[in-house]
Amino acid sequence: MRKRIGILTSGGDAPGMNAAIRAAVRMGINEGWEMYGVRHGYQGLIHGEIIPLGARDVGGIIECGGTMLHTARCPEFEKHEGRLKALYTLRENRIDALIIIGGNGSQSGSYELSRMDYPVVGVASTIDNDLYGCDITIGVHTALNTALEAIDKLRVTASSTDRVFLVEVMGREYGYLALISGIAGGAEAIIIPEVEIDPEDIASELYSAYKRGKSHAMVVVAEGAQYNAEGLAKYFQDHHERLGFELRVTRLGHVQRGGDPVVFDRLLGTRLGAHALECLKNNKSGILVGYRGGKEVTIPLSDVVNNRRELELDLLKLAGVLAK
Ligand code: ADP
Repeated sequence: MRKRIGILTSGGDAPGMNAAIRAAVRMGINEGWEMYGVRHGYQGLIHGEIIPLGARDVGGIIECGGTMLHTARCPEFEKHEGRLKALYTLRENRIDALIIIGGNGSQSGSYELSRMDYPVVGVASTIDNDLYGCDITIGVHTALNTALEAIDKLRVTASSTDRVFLVEVMGREYGYLALISGIAGGAEAIIIPEVEIDPEDIASELYSAYKRGKSHAMVVVAEGAQYNAEGLAKYFQDHHERLGFELRVTRLGHVQRGGDPVVFDRLLGTRLGAHALECLKNNKSGILVGYRGGKEVTIPLSDVVNNRRELELDLLKLAGVLAK
């Protein structure tokens, strides 16, 4: 049967989303299906922003970060009435199934739609890497490389001026980006939401690094940590006389979302987008397509919304030892 499939990107954009859109569209066309894009995530779904997508419409996007369909946050979709409006749009446009590319929040939306008996396949895409059942999600590698480039550059100036630099990276309540970019950047201290810290401990760690002969230091902190960049910098400023040094703060912010996707994210986006289409071909829905153990996997959306991905905290211990 000739199907009509919609694709939308939702929540935070991630480099590699375009590769997923392109793969799903071209795989669908290869099946003889009609493909449609929903602009601006769930908001566009509620307001009927639906456009046909042909093979040429997704040309020249695999190398671009962001999402050609645009994305948005949509509080209205979190309410039942909002989702009813979205279902109405889908029925009016005779869209048979949806592919929803996004992170944890977006996949909660996927789950809610699937609970209303609408066929949905999610695609795991977020720079935060916090989706349950997935080793790595679309956008993580590019974001990590962006953070690392900044950390490397800041270390150059930190080492020339004998200072302590604090770099705040994204990741919301999850410490993955900070942990991995901190390890890869050789940070003297890494602060993540999963582990409570006392600023005094950080101060004594930095002081002992100085005693061991280090002339400068890099601290990487996750934005969701109890003491984020602002909190820590204030603490060090307030106790400047006693602690003896202050922190130079850089918040990387949204720069980590931008940039052209690295090869891994282009490939991952391509594989997961194509796999989402395969799932629909096999009448599988109510699932998230992710990447685990070196291959594409599917995870029930109910599992995704009811579980958290565990962070490998052993890596934090390792980083502590290696910072010696
Ligand atoms: P991300 O997908 O990057 O984690 P958000 O958490 O901002 O981004 O979620 C994106 C959108 O997903 C929200 O604006 C909302 O429209 C939808 N969403 C989030 N949580 C839910 C929920 N519990 N039920 C239904 N929709 C949700």
